[in-house]
Amino acid sequence: MSRLPDRIKELQDLAENLIWVWKPKAREIFKILDHPAWHSTGHNPVHMLQIIPQERLDAAATDPSFLKKYDSMIHNYHSILETQDTWFSKEFPEYKGKIAYLSTEYGLHQSLPIYSGGLGILSGDHVKESSDLGLPFVGVGFVYPQGYFKQRIPRNGWQQAEYENIDFSKSPIKPVQANGDSQLTIELQYPTSLFLRVWSMNVGRTPIYLMDTDIEQNQPWDRGLSARLYGGDREMRIRQEIVLGFGALKILSHLGHNPDVYHLNEGHTSFSALELLRQEMLGNGLSFDEAKEDVRKKVVFTTHTPVAAGHDQFSFELVSKYFQNFWESLGISREDFLSLGAFDWGYGDGPRFNMTTLGIRLSRYQNAVSKLNGEVSQEMWKDLYSSPEFRDRSPLAYVTNGVHVPTWVSGPFQNLYTKYLGKNWLRQQDDHDIWEKIDNIPNVELWNTRQEARKRMFSFLREKTRAHRIQGDRDSRLTLAAGALLDPEALTIGFARRFATYKRAGLIFQNIERIKANLLDPYTPVQIIFAGKAHPQDDAGKHVLQKIFQKVVSGEYGGRIAFIEDYDMQMGRYLVQGCDVWLNNPEKPMEASGTSGMKAAINGVVNFSILDGWWPEAYTGGNGYVIGGQEFSNYDEQNQYDADSLYKILETEIRPLFYRRNRENIPLEWCEVIKNSIKTVTPQFSARRMLKEYVQNAYSPKKKD
Ligand SMILES: *Cc1c(COP(=O)(O)O)cnc(C)c1O
Repeated sequence: MSRLPDRIKELQDLAENLIWVWKPKAREIFKILDHPAWHSTGHNPVHMLQIIPQERLDAAATDPSFLKKYDSMIHNYHSILETQDTWFSKEFPEYKGKIAYLSTEYGLHQSLPIYSGGLGILSGDHVKESSDLGLPFVGVGFVYPQGYFKQRIPRNGWQQAEYENIDFSKSPIKPVQANGDSQLTIELQYPTSLFLRVWSMNVGRTPIYLMDTDIEQNQPWDRGLSARLYGGDREMRIRQEIVLGFGALKILSHLGHNPDVYHLNEGHTSFSALELLRQEMLGNGLSFDEAKEDVRKKVVFTTHTPVAAGHDQFSFELVSKYFQNFWESLGISREDFLSLGAFDWGYGDGPRFNMTTLGIRLSRYQNAVSKLNGEVSQEMWKDLYSSPEFRDRSPLAYVTNGVHVPTWVSGPFQNLYTKYLGKNWLRQQDDHDIWEKIDNIPNVELWNTRQEARKRMFSFLREKTRAHRIQGDRDSRLTLAAGALLDPEALTIGFARRFATYKRAGLIFQNIERIKANLLDPYTPVQIIFAGKAHPQDDAGKHVLQKIFQKVVSGEYGGRIAFIEDYDMQMGRYLVQGCDVWLNNPEKPMEASGTSGMKAAINGVVNFSILDGWWPEAYTGGNGYVIGGQEFSNYDEQNQYDADSLYKILETEIRPLFYRRNRENIPLEWCEVIKNSIKTVTPQFSARRMLKEYVQNAYSPKKKD
């Protein structure tokens, strides 16, 4: 183990606070300290500081140019942690409360695989922005010792899942200390005894507490409970959700937090409202009805999916198995208890205990994640909202998702924005006026910046392929699949997302001859980069992936299509920064919001999408492209119509604009689309705008008297 010289000892603190993820100067310090170690640890500064040779550290501690950067960053870091001058403290100077956020996953950085996709990355962006805005905020969730899976795709295209243990000692996740040296553990009755270990990590100014159950005091079956994100069957799921919901509340109160807002991110966390109910009834002596009223005052609930199967529900029998003690101890009847979650979808299999209805019933504010998703969700839950218990309550609202701009915008574009929007552009990122200055950027500079981002993506992809071959993957078809023949100058379409069937990853192959003509055109070719994981239990999704992969390895497409395995946040960043066009063609209205297209737009990558999720709110006519528009009840007709529309726009609008160049080889009209996209999307679909809306509409902080 290396030791840090005193002169640079605060590198340890900086490494252990995930703020470096979105502070380029902090990342630069780690990178220049030891580039190979930075690379070999997958950009993990905690691990890196453990393996750097002592001589490197000693040299850095006496290197004036390193020390200058170090001192400036450490100064900056302290002032961020200590300042009282934040948006929140200016808006709500009297507020002394706390906002707790509960989520099953947090996507903060690729080195911490405790996220699977959009929902987790949204949580991560929410937490990062809470730090930037200075919200009195705390997150709670699980740490999964085996995380989410790594994806391997063999020649046959059938996705394989590999799990690796997270080594906590090489991560910014630290044990929360109890009295003495031991790690804090918390006992739950669920209904028999179970112990949680408590961990914490700092994301800028915001702490996140994480729990897991892998400790000796627990039965083997309980130890594995938190092993993997979304592993196991229904019973495993209810047990995880009980542990998360009840555990989160116990951890917060044990650590002295007494939030006045609990934001439940999706139904997986709804059981926490039952712990609040228990506290009100047993702690404060309220009746069942009074307690429900009081719980509602504190809870905010977000729903993320218009897909019925995406809402967790459990049979009454399973719920009774775990909750009989609970309702008996509160002195309420089984019927009263079940009424909190009971919901019947009307598919003929009767009512179930639904985690979304539980969250809706026990919250004062509920929201969907885009305007369209709000309308769809209102329709979906209309029986619930029209029931007598909802008579005096507000309808389901929406807060459209946004992305954490400093996490997702590429280095070259950060520099460009600083040059043309001013050095405070990040601080003013949600101000539409500053984005008008995008028009002042000379097209040649805009285009050079795009080329730089694209070059970085291709070198990332090439190095990934090289690493594969070095590790023994010498099948040349797999090298082809990984993008070895991609052309750094060709119009590049990105399609990277979870492989759920409704996302229709294969739509672009609806008419093979027609897409081939686009791909293989000798003068104005198109190429497509695919990436994404299917949920480990979703065989239909794996089939979609396999069919695409088989095309990719077939060689028939001249290497103009690629499938990059193991999509994660790092690859996501390179793709949303380096492609030209971001394709999204889900079955409408299944996409609740979608966020990758927002990440693309802020990097000058143009959206080409069905009018679903967030895109209807963003599309202005000149800032990207719309696929389809007409709706059919027949699935095949819909696919045919949407695919025809996709080809037509690609052939008559996107390709001509991208390849029409001036004498300096700049696509002037394409640059106009890029500019329109950046300036309309960035301020509106930033996590900053989103969080301010949550504060104003949902958290509504009141002055404490
Ligand atoms: C942004 C992101 C997602 C979510 O993208 P959608 O457009 O919502 O599907 C999923 N995975 C990763 C790695 C991402 O970066």
